[in-house]
Amino acid sequence: SQTVHRICSGQVILSLSIAVKELLENSIDAGATNIEIKLKNYGMDLVEVIDNGSGVNKDNFEALTLKSYTSKIRQFTDLEFVSTLGFRGEALSSLCALSELTVTTRHSSDDHGTKIKYDKNGKIVKKEPVARQVGTTVSLANLFTPIPVRRKEFVKNHKREFNKMCNLLYAYCLVSTGIKISCTNITSKGNQCNVVNTRGLSSVKENIISVFGAKQISSLIEVELIQPDESVAEEFGLTRLAKEESPFHFEFFISSVIHGSGRSASDRQFYFVNSRPCDIPKLMKLVNDIYRQFNVHQYPFVYLNVRLKSSCVDVNVTPDKRMLFLEKEKLLLATVKSTLLESFKLFPS
Ligand code: ADP
Ligand code: MG
Repeated sequence: SQTVHRICSGQVILSLSIAVKELLENSIDAGATNIEIKLKNYGMDLVEVIDNGSGVNKDNFEALTLKSYTSKIRQFTDLEFVSTLGFRGEALSSLCALSELTVTTRHSSDDHGTKIKYDKNGKIVKKEPVARQVGTTVSLANLFTPIPVRRKEFVKNHKREFNKMCNLLYAYCLVSTGIKISCTNITSKGNQCNVVNTRGLSSVKENIISVFGAKQISSLIEVELIQPDESVAEEFGLTRLAKEESPFHFEFFISSVIHGSGRSASDRQFYFVNSRPCDIPKLMKLVNDIYRQFNVHQYPFVYLNVRLKSSCVDVNVTPDKRMLFLEKEKLLLATVKSTLLESFKLFPS
């Protein structure tokens, strides 16, 4: 059964990015306003996420790493209304099978912290009091070592995995207003680099600038949603266009120019549904096709957070929760197209 658990864990936590994402989401769900991510040797030696969130109550130390333990869904019917990022209770149970997991935490009801070491099966092997502010630190040492094949892949592709993680991290940094997020990596030679350092500011626009720098993104504009007209609607096979209000709200920023070369199309494009970073390949393709058609720039900066009723979206499709089913996908594509066509008129030619 240990093997089964490891195989299943491997399916949940497929990569460094997903490991970091899970820890980051836990910190955000815990109400943290300051989150530090520290990697050693590109995450191969250590991944550590330090937050000032609620901390873990001592009654939950044992349960934390149990499969399906979550403090976040009370009733099954809640699934339709999940507002927290995590809700499956699988991340920590998987991570202890895939790395050496240590949790240091102090709950607001405690006057000191506790450092807890878990074994591969999620059992507590060591527990000691430590000094700590309220909040939680989760450390993963030697990620994927229990699965030699995956570890080998990780070590071989660690730079690529690290870059993927950075891009995912940017997405969270942009959307998380009011949360200060930093990430550093220390190489085995002791060189430290800062991946990102946001200031916990209150607007997405300020986050964009603190992640990418004002110089990198010129002509950044915020655009307003435009409902598709007949011809655009027809293109997407929408025959009966509802006359009522759009089911979407957009938080939409685009740039006309990006300096620097060697970027790929997805490097500076961030899509969210109800503030959850996600991949919507059809939407990405649409946006890039329109940019190309207008010859504005091949690889623009895009930030699009689509808000819609949570009953219209199913995030439970893949374990990493990045792919999702959207009702009214065609209407979304048509609306984005109309919005972009209108917005391009705003760019200086
Ligand atoms: P989920 O996030 O789906 O609930 P996880 O396995 O990611 O499941 O985490 C299990 C539980 O551990 C969470 O429900 C939460 O109660 C607790 N937890 C994990 N990380 C933190 C954190 N950084 N701060 C406070 N509690 C945490
Ligand atoms: Mg979680």
